[in-house]
Amino acid sequence: SLTSMSARLRLHNKVAIITGAASGIGLETSLQFAAEGARVVLSDVNEEAVHKAAELVLKNFPTSEAFGIKADVSKETDIAGVVEAAVVKFGRLDVMFNNAGIMHPADDDAVNTEEKIWDLTQAINVKGVWYGCKHAVIAMRNNKPEPEKGLGIGGSVINVASFVCKVGAATPQLAYTASKGAVLAMTRELAMVHAREGIRFNSLCPGPIKTPLLMDFLNTPEKLNRRLVHCPMGRFGEAVEQAKSVVFLASDDSSYVNGTDFMVDGGLIACY
Ligand code: NAD
Repeated sequence: SLTSMSARLRLHNKVAIITGAASGIGLETSLQFAAEGARVVLSDVNEEAVHKAAELVLKNFPTSEAFGIKADVSKETDIAGVVEAAVVKFGRLDVMFNNAGIMHPADDDAVNTEEKIWDLTQAINVKGVWYGCKHAVIAMRNNKPEPEKGLGIGGSVINVASFVCKVGAATPQLAYTASKGAVLAMTRELAMVHAREGIRFNSLCPGPIKTPLLMDFLNTPEKLNRRLVHCPMGRFGEAVEQAKSVVFLASDDSSYVNGTDFMVDGGLIACY
């Protein structure tokens, strides 16, 4: 029956926010979340693109519920507004995917990285994740168990770090690498602090993934090959390969997974 079909969907009835949802990993995750029965709030600093992304979700999954909303994660009022919009529209928040991030093409080594690039990177990649976590916790504290709807207590927060938290990048991007290390450390502490409230926190650590972010940064054949040589599978990953793991971390299938550095890197950090 339809009821038992939907009960098998891994995010049935869950309300999820995705930041940076207009492109790459965020867009693919929005589609996968809708496919698994979640009610999806897509947010992005790119207003036109985020509305297009929400339309794509609804076109692909006509019975799903989704909407787009403009938000710059480096502005706390924007993030608070996204969480409020989710709660007003869908009544609660179960999943927060803090995915928005930048890898600035002018990011470089210690000597050549400009201070304004450093500050912009930390504002989006670090402070933006903090704001997302803060407002997710505030909303998730109101969650009450509704086992008949498949809704447990608390919630799941997934923060996007990177394989560069584990191994140094050969094509320098010092501001980015530092920012992602901060995400990893922050996520571990949040996982411990909120565990007894039933709110789980995990870091997703993608390897090099074929998205505009990476392709704009590796803008010469030399830079591209310098990174590709480290991929054990001989290829970059696809955004959808991240999205499938995010579904797992968001769902109750990962109910005892907390505080991890969840590697989805094709084996990159395991190899030399
Ligand atoms: P992408 O550039 O395809 O998508 C990023 C999205 O974030 C864009 O739609 C952009 O408009 C949005 N964004 C940028 N700044 C924002 C802001 N201030 N507020 C809200 N939204 C903003 O990139 P992607 O590769 O899908 O990256 C998603 C996440 O994955 C990032 O955190 C990135 O650092 C991380 N990551 C990517 C790779 C990779 O190789 N692609 C590897 C490791 C980690």
